[in-house]
Amino acid sequence: MNAEIIAERRIPTEIDRGSKDILNRTAEIINDLCQRPEVEGKRIFGVGMAVAGLINRRKNIVEFSPDFHWRDVDIKGTIGTGCELPILFDNVTRMMAMGELLYGIGTKYRDFIFINVGYGIGAGVVINREPLYGSFGMAGEFGHITLDKASKIQCDCGNYGCLEALASGHGIAIAARKALKDGADSILKEQCNGDLSKITAKMVADAAKSGESFSRNIFNEAAEYLGIGVATLVNLFSPHAIIIGGGVAQAGDILFDTVRKTVSARSIKNISREVDILPATFGMKAAAMGAVSVVLDNVLHLNPIE
Ligand SMILES: [Zn+2]
Repeated sequence: MNAEIIAERRIPTEIDRGSKDILNRTAEIINDLCQRPEVEGKRIFGVGMAVAGLINRRKNIVEFSPDFHWRDVDIKGTIGTGCELPILFDNVTRMMAMGELLYGIGTKYRDFIFINVGYGIGAGVVINREPLYGSFGMAGEFGHITLDKASKIQCDCGNYGCLEALASGHGIAIAARKALKDGADSILKEQCNGDLSKITAKMVADAAKSGESFSRNIFNEAAEYLGIGVATLVNLFSPHAIIIGGGVAQAGDILFDTVRKTVSARSIKNISREVDILPATFGMKAAAMGAVSVVLDNVLHLNPIE
């Protein structure tokens, strides 16, 4: 009931194997966790799932996941055959926002926006301590706002110059690979033994932190785009806090310093001076914390927000 973790398994998502394979393996993990000795004698109430993509709440499907290349995936229909527990799913970033709202730094705020900067970018908007779904569940696609109309970089959604293509983990890796391919020099070249496809956003962030100028420029450019996007959210919603999590946010100060500076330069001062820009509480576990709240709310009919 307190979202305390008693057992954990972690496997990489193999996107190329498709939705069926991923969901079958998820069912295997659920069943495996249910058999663990830690769970013996306890009752399991349900499964909360965080999914990267656009959820259609009317049809109860994942209608489109640009990152996973999924279209119209019926989660319950696929997983349900392998698992008898109630399954509740939502967009991963909204789940992370819920985790913060109930168990993390979000407990201190009525209005905040959780931003997930990992492979992609999304936003979970919380207004008056309620998550914003939009008319049928797809609000928060912050990563797919266009920030550079001249950009030649195509986003996974099909558009060009999306924030996600410019500032996500995937976007940072692509920007570094392209600049190196075009002849720039960097210690990253040695680190990947000349195989540019091995370059990750984390390698760029680590080199940037060590002061290497190439990586610093690439990372700062991405952080500045993120800051421009956040400045827009600040103007639109006037939140009390912007909470940033996900893989890229683990870079810490080099990200937050640039985002704070950019927000203060590019949003209306009267609004942004009241906004706290903070790292997420739970690191990579934020979505799991949110998933607990959805089960409590829907299966046990406890409204954890109250
Ligand atoms: Zn996009």
